[in-house]
Amino acid sequence: MTSPPTLWKSGFSCPNCGVEAHQSWFNCYAANRTSSRSDIHKQQPSPASDAAFAVTPSVTLGPPSQNIHSQGNIPVHNISISRCYSCSEAAVWIGTRLIWPRFTPDIKPHVHMPAAIKADFVEACSILQLSPRGAAALVRVALEKLINHLVGEAVKPNDGIQKLVDRGMPERVQKMCDAVRIITNDSVHLGTINSNDDLASATKLFHLVNVIVDQTIGLDMLADEVYGDLPHDKIQFIEDRKRGAVRKSATSINSNK
Ligand SMILES: [Zn+2]
Repeated sequence: MTSPPTLWKSGFSCPNCGVEAHQSWFNCYAANRTSSRSDIHKQQPSPASDAAFAVTPSVTLGPPSQNIHSQGNIPVHNISISRCYSCSEAAVWIGTRLIWPRFTPDIKPHVHMPAAIKADFVEACSILQLSPRGAAALVRVALEKLINHLVGEAVKPNDGIQKLVDRGMPERVQKMCDAVRIITNDSVHLGTINSNDDLASATKLFHLVNVIVDQTIGLDMLADEVYGDLPHDKIQFIEDRKRGAVRKSATSINSNK
């Protein structure tokens, strides 16, 4: 699991190169413009880049200025720059939010996630940077559909989770379901996921939903697959054993009445 870009963190998955790398942080100063010279930098075209990408303005850090604190250099509050140790490229932050470049988290839906749930999951992922709160709301929709899928009917998430627990869902999966349910519910109602690192908090929700799918649908499919590959007579023996255990248990209950 890679760490999403987070304000002031010393390392995360770089939004420029994608490498999990150390990040240096810089404050911003505004300098009076002393000339009309254009210093808009464009990214150098490369054979791999298309024309539109080639003219995208880039953000670069120049050499340290000797007179940064001299008159005319004004501290800019609430804008920060991070620079990646791996690619040396810069990223721009306003407040706690990464503004540039666009960060596309490398989160794929679990291979066994049902299609209807996958659509919400992928859509949520696509708006994660722009609106972590909106992404969280879509993750909640995905969780609700997943619970309905597992229960086999439309239920309220709270009731659905309890039904699954009653059917033997492990406590660790129940904890993850309730965590996603409560975090996404609070984020929708309170207007924030976590005031300090909402992108990181929202990213965690995606991983939790994937783990829930893995621990339910994924493990069920794996169990059915390995069990189904056993020789027929062995399966018959096991099924007879299970029926015998049920009969024994019923007899024991009756004799204790
Ligand atoms: Zn980088």
